[in-house]
Amino acid sequence: MVTDEPTDSLDKTADPWAAYDETVAATGFWTMARQLPTTFGSVLVECWRVSRRDTVALVLCTLIAEIGTAVGLLATTEILDHLLETGPTPERIRSAAPALLLVAAMVVGRGVLREAAGWTRSRLTPQLRRSLQTRLLRLTTAVELVAFDDDGFQNTLHRIRERAPHAVAALLDGVLRLLSGAIGVIVIAGVLGVLHPVLVPLLLLALLPTWWAAVRSARMSYEMYAAISGAERRMDTLSNLMADRVPAAEIRAYTMRSFLLGEFHRLSTHVQDRAIHLERRHAENGAIGGSLAGLGIGVVYLALGLLLFTAAMPLAVAGTAVIAIRTAMSSLRVLVDSMNWSYENALFYRDYLEFCRGAAARQERSGGTDAPADADRIVARDIAFTYPNADRPALNGLSIDIEPGEIIAIVGENGSGKTTLAKILSGLYQPDAGSVTYGGVPLREIDLTSLRDRIAVVAQNFTHWPFSARQNVTIGRHNHAEADTGFAAAISASGTDDVFAGLPRGADTLLDPTYQGGVELSGGQWQRIAVARGLYRDAPLLICDEPTAALDARTEHSIFETIRKHAAQRTVVLITHRLATVRYADRIFVLKQGRVVERGSHDELMARDGIYREFYTLQAQAYHNDSRQTGDS
Ligand code: ADP
Repeated sequence: MVTDEPTDSLDKTADPWAAYDETVAATGFWTMARQLPTTFGSVLVECWRVSRRDTVALVLCTLIAEIGTAVGLLATTEILDHLLETGPTPERIRSAAPALLLVAAMVVGRGVLREAAGWTRSRLTPQLRRSLQTRLLRLTTAVELVAFDDDGFQNTLHRIRERAPHAVAALLDGVLRLLSGAIGVIVIAGVLGVLHPVLVPLLLLALLPTWWAAVRSARMSYEMYAAISGAERRMDTLSNLMADRVPAAEIRAYTMRSFLLGEFHRLSTHVQDRAIHLERRHAENGAIGGSLAGLGIGVVYLALGLLLFTAAMPLAVAGTAVIAIRTAMSSLRVLVDSMNWSYENALFYRDYLEFCRGAAARQERSGGTDAPADADRIVARDIAFTYPNADRPALNGLSIDIEPGEIIAIVGENGSGKTTLAKILSGLYQPDAGSVTYGGVPLREIDLTSLRDRIAVVAQNFTHWPFSARQNVTIGRHNHAEADTGFAAAISASGTDDVFAGLPRGADTLLDPTYQGGVELSGGQWQRIAVARGLYRDAPLLICDEPTAALDARTEHSIFETIRKHAAQRTVVLITHRLATVRYADRIFVLKQGRVVERGSHDELMARDGIYREFYTLQAQAYHNDSRQTGDS
């Protein structure tokens, strides 16, 4: 059986969009319509911010063009007045000529002004987009790092990143349509009031059915939008994944194609059914609205006829009223259309404004004192830290002290808090409790930029920058004057020079295969670049978080040798699973559930019957077995 209403075949399982869908669903049509003027207002404020001249020009051109309509209408009455006078036709035409010229001038003037408004709008749109994108990136790059672990922040950011700049451009269109539609209706009502007071209620009578039908259709579109917006976004996500380079290999390797296409088909069928259903309802509504409007117009004409018949209204005024009512109806349609056009964009734009307010409140707080220039003592006391959406603390009463020039190793099982500690020591996260001091100065009082300038981090998840190989090494000190000496030393120490030698354009090769001439490197090759990036920064504190996980044993060994050599006058914090490399550290800290449970040199820890000895013995046995098996074969 075919039902009238398309069934909602979508599984509404919790997904990152759920919160957004709920917002849409909870925003009824009238709420949405009431909020639109405020949203339009803030778009105008944004326009004002990017270019006062263009904003004034745009608003003035739109206003004057619509006021021209009023003048044109009044002149039309005069033309009709003269044409309907008694007397010879050439005489009547001559007397109507000035008003005719005025109408012609108005039509030309309005055309020119509308073009001018179009031009200023085209100037404003790219400026608006650029301003929005830049503001967003300024905020996202300065927001405290922990915000990125907050799923609410991430979801909103993901949602608005692509859409907000387009939304604002679309809203500007909406503002203009609303302005010209509203001014059009008001101006015409004013003109009719001047011509004859009874024309205003007649205008309302003519407009009422059109308004009713237009609002009804706007409401349907909104409800349709609310019903399918979640599905459309999921379709977007899926289609991006199916056309992207990174998942392409997995889609093939896991033969996911038919599954993904099936999901897409399911979503697109849902959206398509809804759209067709809506179109049918629109058509029905249009037919009813059209008939009612016809009826209204009929009543209006009848009233005008009566007024003429009783000589209560001159013929010229009645003729103008007919033209005016027609014009007002089309202005009204423009007005309601602007609402129709703007729901989705208004939601995105409001989301964007909300996000900017939240992100501005979450900017990193930096102290005013410069970080100590050279390697200095670092002391962390009773550090506690919990990630925003976690139910357990990642660090829980951890204390550690690092002497200048020491090589410190931090070991522990997965999830014991090593990476979190590295991020706290490098000033990326502020602890929830406890204190960290650098050369006796508390972290909260230190200027974060100066602190970070003195720290090099080779992180586990470093970024593959879509720049040249050279820039991938120098990016952390890109405005440094004596670039080349440090560069040569960093790439040779990390073994990156061998990687560069194999590249088609050496260090100038673009490391992004999605661009022409770009290449991709292996995981190990990338890791050497990451190490070179850290060494090139030449900072008194080097923090390496699993810097060698993707390297072969020989390269790993040579990199550790490099790091050890590099450590002269520098402090090194090394996080690794490979205990063979840890044994050369001055001191080793063993972490468990966010606390230090053992500390000491390799020999001291091996002398104890603790976790370190257990790990070390296990790993040594595994190596031993591996090498025996390799030897046997
Ligand atoms: P390690 O580096 O020792 O493997 P981490 O410092 O990465 O450990 O993680 C410590 C704990 O914090 C783990 O329980 C982990 O699940 C949790 N954790 C790490 N990152 C996040 C995050 N972004 N959000 C929530 N919990 C996290």
